[in-house]
Amino acid sequence: MDEIDARRERAARNQSLFRVVNERIVELSHRSGDEARPNAYLCECLDTDCSASIELPYDEYQRLREHGSRFFVLPGHEDSDVEDVVETTPGYVVVDKVGVAGEIAESADPRKAGGCRQLQQEVGPWLS
Ligand SMILES: [Zn+2]
Repeated sequence: MDEIDARRERAARNQSLFRVVNERIVELSHRSGDEARPNAYLCECLDTDCSASIELPYDEYQRLREHGSRFFVLPGHEDSDVEDVVETTPGYVVVDKVGVAGEIAESADPRKAGGCRQLQQEVGPWLS
């Protein structure tokens, strides 16, 4: 595996962790019946130290989650070496993972049956 692939893989894993947290946020908002109010989600960029948040209405979040290989990040947080920009809005940028990163992102999708449990366990402590 060359260096860029290693970077892609690492990025996809990090982003999948952020996604697990965001899935938890949307789940809580759904459970409390508070879907009309936008929520602040974590920026799903590949910087694990990034603590930026992105406000999204419930429906918008659900739409973005339809693709297992896509993540949303703050404008400027995308990295064109490891991902393709597929949508740009004033508040966020949607990126699509390519190659090996796309496969990792898809297989870690919590919305898929058998979506990577290990990732969910790793992120567990953040959620409690
Ligand atoms: Zn970020």
